[in-house]
Amino acid sequence: MPTVAAYAAASATEPLAPFRLERRAPRAHEVAIKIQACGICHTDIHQTRNEWGNSTFPMVPGHEITGVVTAIGAQVTKFKPGDRVGVGCFVDSCRSCQPCRRGEEQYCDRGPVFTYNGQEADGTPTQGGYSATIVADENYVLRIPANLPLDGAAPLLCAGITLYSPLRHWHAGPGVRVGIVGLGGLGHMGVKLAHAMGAEVTVFSQSERKREDSRRLGADHFYAVSGAASVAGQERSYDLILNTVSAPLDWSLYLNLLKPDGSLVILGVPPAPVPVHALPLVAGRRTLAGSMIGGIRETQEMLDFCGRAGITSDIETIAIAQVNQAYDRMLKSDVRYRFVIDMATLQ
Ligand code: NAP
Ligand code: ZN
Ligand code: ZN
Repeated sequence: MPTVAAYAAASATEPLAPFRLERRAPRAHEVAIKIQACGICHTDIHQTRNEWGNSTFPMVPGHEITGVVTAIGAQVTKFKPGDRVGVGCFVDSCRSCQPCRRGEEQYCDRGPVFTYNGQEADGTPTQGGYSATIVADENYVLRIPANLPLDGAAPLLCAGITLYSPLRHWHAGPGVRVGIVGLGGLGHMGVKLAHAMGAEVTVFSQSERKREDSRRLGADHFYAVSGAASVAGQERSYDLILNTVSAPLDWSLYLNLLKPDGSLVILGVPPAPVPVHALPLVAGRRTLAGSMIGGIRETQEMLDFCGRAGITSDIETIAIAQVNQAYDRMLKSDVRYRFVIDMATLQ
């Protein structure tokens, strides 16, 4: 099997370093993709550092992948060489369970085959997008709208769909008040998407630093949150609050901002259990929920929506040798708003 260039974490405590990776020739239903860009998701940090306790090494992270099809298997019908495509957080699923049949492969009863730190049906470990190429089944590959650049579109494959799916599920639109907690990679996509859907959007951030940006991205209101006094007057006024922060949060504070029947949705994944008081849930029939990425059909719908609305991620392009530095900066919230690796820098 040919090997291709990549960057990998050898263990949870070592920085990422150059690595050679085997990629097979496409099987009957698979396409081979030359990767042009790969976004850096905070999940890449959680996983390479084994913060969720399920990491296997060596690990090539990356699940915000865009590139161009270079070869196709004999029975591929959806793509041809030269097509501009994307791969997101998973590359396969069982295809027969109820969630898969509904097109919600992310909730596959057997667990989707994640793009990296996952296992294919035959046990082969999956390796992600910090690499020159990837090979994936055509049914799990997305089409990138012609008007969107491949670098700015890469973060749509995870950050974009992770916000789009709950915004649609909870009916964001005109007359709906949406709060976004944390203006990072996920959060800034949430602001752009909710605004484009016609919702009234509020950003809750840790400091004043991103106030101007939040307006430029499409938010109507901005709060630097430091305790209940900082959001005084906002109680009982939101339909939907999406939390993208993985650090500990004052859950009661945000539950109290919801109208009766409002929903607080967990998107950022804290490593520790989430402590909530019952009273703010009970007094208002409010919901605390979670949501994970989106299915293939909905991801394509999101990409097409972004194509029509001209939405891409605000990115800072880096060479792959800067990836460890980028991780450190991301942990300090020092990126506006997504690092994207230019894969032409991978030798
Ligand atoms: P990110 O770009 O690092 O953004 C996280 C944001 O959280 C920061 O920009 C910051 O916003 C805020 N924040 C950081 N530290 C904080 C602290 N100590 N207290 C309060 N707020 C803090 O990360 P991301 O890529 O958006 O990912 C966020 C989380 O979502 C990660 O846990 C990731 O694993 C998870 N995720 C979940 C899904 C899913 O399907 N559910 C998909 C992708 C990622 P401010 O500066 O505005 O406060
Ligand atoms: Zn991600
Ligand atoms: Zn399934």
